[in-house]
Amino acid sequence: MSEHKIEAVRVHLVTVPARTVHSHGSGDVGAICSVLLELVTDTGLTGWGEASPWPVFTGTVEGNAAAMHGYFAPYLRGRDPVQVDVLMNAVEKILVGHHEAKAALECALLDLTGQICGLSIAELVGGRHREAIPLSFSVANPDFGKDLDDIAAMWADGVRLFKLKTGFAGHGFDLMRLEKLRAVYGDEIDLRIDYNQGLPAFDAIRQVRDLEPFRPTFVEQPVKRHEREALAAITRSVDVPIMADESVFDPREALLGAQMRLSDVFSLKIMKSAGIRRALEVAAIARAAGIEVYGGCMFETSIAHAAGAQLMAAVPDLRLGCEFYMSTYYAADDIAQEPFPVEGGMVHVPNGPGLGVRPDAEKLARYRSELLT
Ligand code: MG
Repeated sequence: MSEHKIEAVRVHLVTVPARTVHSHGSGDVGAICSVLLELVTDTGLTGWGEASPWPVFTGTVEGNAAAMHGYFAPYLRGRDPVQVDVLMNAVEKILVGHHEAKAALECALLDLTGQICGLSIAELVGGRHREAIPLSFSVANPDFGKDLDDIAAMWADGVRLFKLKTGFAGHGFDLMRLEKLRAVYGDEIDLRIDYNQGLPAFDAIRQVRDLEPFRPTFVEQPVKRHEREALAAITRSVDVPIMADESVFDPREALLGAQMRLSDVFSLKIMKSAGIRRALEVAAIARAAGIEVYGGCMFETSIAHAAGAQLMAAVPDLRLGCEFYMSTYYAADDIAQEPFPVEGGMVHVPNGPGLGVRPDAEKLARYRSELLT
């Protein structure tokens, strides 16, 4: 037991504009729409977490705000924030689903606990295996000329990992972009492909094989989330490693994925697993099965990025990097006091205590559409 009690629960709905629209196999996105959760203790501490839903992938802003305000808040008031697992288990019994709201809650509780102990979240959940993680940027502009300019600018910054979002403008467009990037950057560029479920299962193996001459590091989620047999068949049939994103949300799906050798890589995301600790459970299942993991994200501000970076610092093996690029290279602005620590093509894991990143009051007021208390 600690001497701290949660006194206030505040829910901030925010919209941060993007510099440009990003296109994916599952739709276009032009802003970061998130729900920030603020927990305040009777001792004057403040813990923060972020829910970043994408309606075609996980859930909605409205649903996650209602989960926090209507269901979590009445239970949380008066509770000890360091009892993280006890509180998260209780919340599971109050409300099913709403993974992103639960990720925000777990993050805010760990942020408070880290401040109380003087440790970063990565240290609270096991330790810091690394201080920096190679950053991957997602190439997703329907105007490829604009993408080439952006890639050149990021290349100058030291970014070497680029993930092409595919499956929204045809197979020929995808092959043309791969060919162009290999021609311009040679072997130094680390290319990845993400279909976001955009390929028809009946023709997916042939289309993925067409990519192989361009030597992608992996191909992510070519087919629909529920088409697991097709995904496993693609994994068996092609040489390029296949990554499951939409098909593996939580430990139960990771176990199924490991049993059927669904893919060679799982993308870890706190918005899918409902938090850092359950993402580490996914990572443990993957490790036992010889499956690689990767640091994925949704459309997030640097609050959720920091939580993702804390998670990926605590994963024992990490060879494929992470994609916490939104606040540096996608959003027109950010919500945090300091720029998210990206330098030389690397994400530097915030040192804490707790999350290590906090919203700026003025920016929060500027981008907030609604406050629920
Ligand atoms: Mg993906």
